[in-house]
Amino acid sequence: MKVAQISKPGADFEIAEREIPEPAEGQVRIKVLACGVCHSDVFTKEGSWPGIQYPRIPGHEVAGIIDAVGAGVSGWKKGQHAGVGWHGGHDGTCRACQRGDFRNCRNLKVPGISYDGGYQQYMLAPVDAVVSLPDTLSNTEAAPLLCAGVTTFDALRHSGALPGDLVAVSGIGGVGHLGVQFANKFGYKVAAIGQGAETAALAKKLGASEYIDTQSTNAAEALQNLGGAQAILATAPSSKAMSELIDGLAANGKLIVIGVASDPIEVTPLQLITGTKSIEGTAAGTPAGEEDTVNFAALTGVRPMIETYPLEKAGEAYARMMSGKARFRVVLTI
Ligand SMILES: [Zn+2]
Ligand SMILES: [Zn+2]
Repeated sequence: MKVAQISKPGADFEIAEREIPEPAEGQVRIKVLACGVCHSDVFTKEGSWPGIQYPRIPGHEVAGIIDAVGAGVSGWKKGQHAGVGWHGGHDGTCRACQRGDFRNCRNLKVPGISYDGGYQQYMLAPVDAVVSLPDTLSNTEAAPLLCAGVTTFDALRHSGALPGDLVAVSGIGGVGHLGVQFANKFGYKVAAIGQGAETAALAKKLGASEYIDTQSTNAAEALQNLGGAQAILATAPSSKAMSELIDGLAANGKLIVIGVASDPIEVTPLQLITGTKSIEGTAAGTPAGEEDTVNFAALTGVRPMIETYPLEKAGEAYARMMSGKARFRVVLTI
C-alpha cells in the first residue's frame, strides 16, 4: 500500500510502500478513503509533540470503510462506514477515565502522532477511537467534521447559550466556517466576526445574520449593540483579538478559546466579575461527540467547504493548509 510519511522532524513528506498491516486484538483496519489535513499535523511534521517516534504517518481526520476486524472486536464489522478523529484512544484506567472524562485521559492517544494516522491506504485503529459514519455523508465531507467540526459542535452545545441567544464566531476560516453553520442550525442568532468586507457575503451564506468587520468596527461594541453575546467562539488564533472580544459578552456569557496562540489573553478581574463572565478553553471531542457531530451534520446539511488533493500530493496539500489560503479545509483523497 501507499503511505505519505515523515521520516524525521522537519522532513518533507515522502511517498513510500508498506505492507498492509493486520489488525491486532481490539483493533480494526480501515480502508482510508479520505483524510483531512489539519493544522495540528504540524506536531508530526515538525516533531514538536513530546515523545513522537519516526517514521510517522500523520492524519487524524480519517474516513473510510472497515475492511478487517481484530480478535475480540464486537460491534464493528467489515464493510461498515467509519472514521477516526483526534481522539485516538484512552487508557480507561487513569483518574479522568475512571470519572468518564475520556477527553481528558492522561494517556490520550492521537492518530498520526501516537500511532500511524490516515495519510495511507489502510490504517489500524483501536476500537475505542472508531466512529460510525452516516452513509449520507461523503468521506471527504465527513473527515474534517471529526476534528474541526466536533470542536465547534461540542463547544457550542455545552456553551449554555439557548435558542435565540446571540452567539458570535470570531474567525471565518477552517474551524469558524463550521462554527457559524452549527450555531445557525442550533437556532442561535449568529454574529460572524472577520477581517474585511469581502467575508460578509460568505458569512451570511453560512448562516450568520450579522457580520462584524474588525477592520472598520469595534467588535465588542458591535456585540453590545446587539445585546451582548451569550457565547463567543474564538477560533482566530490571536490573543489580542480574543482580549478585545471579552467586553462583547452578555451577563453570564462565555468566551470559548479554540484558536491556538502562545501569548497571553489580557483581561482584568473586573471585566469578568461584572456580569459573571468566563473564559474557557476547549479541545476536540470524544468519539461519542464526533458521532453526534456527523449525525447532526447529516441531518441538517452542515458541510465543510473543502479543497481536495490526492495522497501522492500530501506535501502540496500540507503546504496549502499552512498557507492559510485554503477555502477552507484541505482533504486528501485516497
Ligand atoms: Zn485536527
Ligand atoms: Zn485515561
